[in-house]
Amino acid sequence: MQESSSTERYIPMTTVESGKGTEVASDVYSFTVQFVNICFIGTPQSANGWYLVDAGTPKSAGVIMDAAKSRFGEDAKPKAIILTHGHFDHVGAIIELIKVWDVPVYAHSLELPYLTGKKDYPDPDPTVDGGMLAKISPMFPIEAIDLGNHVQALPEDGQIPGLPEWRWVHTPGHTEGHISLFRDEDRVLVAGDAFITVKQESLINVMTQELDIHGPPRYLTPDWKAAKESVMTLEQLKPSAAVTGHGVPVEGQWLSENLTLLAKDFDEIAIPKTGKYVN
Ligand SMILES: [Zn+2]
Ligand SMILES: [Zn+2]
Repeated sequence: MQESSSTERYIPMTTVESGKGTEVASDVYSFTVQFVNICFIGTPQSANGWYLVDAGTPKSAGVIMDAAKSRFGEDAKPKAIILTHGHFDHVGAIIELIKVWDVPVYAHSLELPYLTGKKDYPDPDPTVDGGMLAKISPMFPIEAIDLGNHVQALPEDGQIPGLPEWRWVHTPGHTEGHISLFRDEDRVLVAGDAFITVKQESLINVMTQELDIHGPPRYLTPDWKAAKESVMTLEQLKPSAAVTGHGVPVEGQWLSENLTLLAKDFDEIAIPKTGKYVN
């Protein structure tokens, strides 16, 4: 395993939600680490344990382990970690976490090159419209981490090992191997960065976590055509509640109306007017 700037470089930025958690379902708990959400699937009572989705910002392992302990008890250790994608703010603590927990990590096969040191993400685009965070996005690390054989590809058929009620849905665009997690029974969605509920380009909106539907973060999304199709895919699932990578969890009518609006008007709402990944 090898660290990179994506796990080493602390980003001095936070939000009003940092350190807070929300139960989206009795066994789905969203927890905010600085400006990104991780998710715990499972309850302290579940016989087959619990699972962590995403691994927060660099240097947040202590915060994540403390949150796990307060929800699951002193010996809290997940069965596995599932990554929606490999951006620095979703894998920041992963090396430290697997050193302590020694559990398998799963990601989409197309995301593995970025998690095994073979491929770095494209450069952030500071020219997209939207505000301050876009402008400082070049400070965000894009360097691949190397988890070696600790990371495995998710099964091709959409199953998630250990979570038979859930399936993964390929939602590329923001990254090649980006996935979302969906449970058909109660239509709960863990969307990653396929869409988010805060204007992530704007520092003030990120700090206050003002609720608003958005496509994936603009400065780090290289394939807008795929990103649009991914939002349409998720809209068709008609989720009842959603945890997104950034912003507060959403549900019910707000979610259905706004996700439908985003799918319909994706070009206007999500895609930046100018930028190096926009034709
Ligand atoms: Zn991302
Ligand atoms: Zn993100």
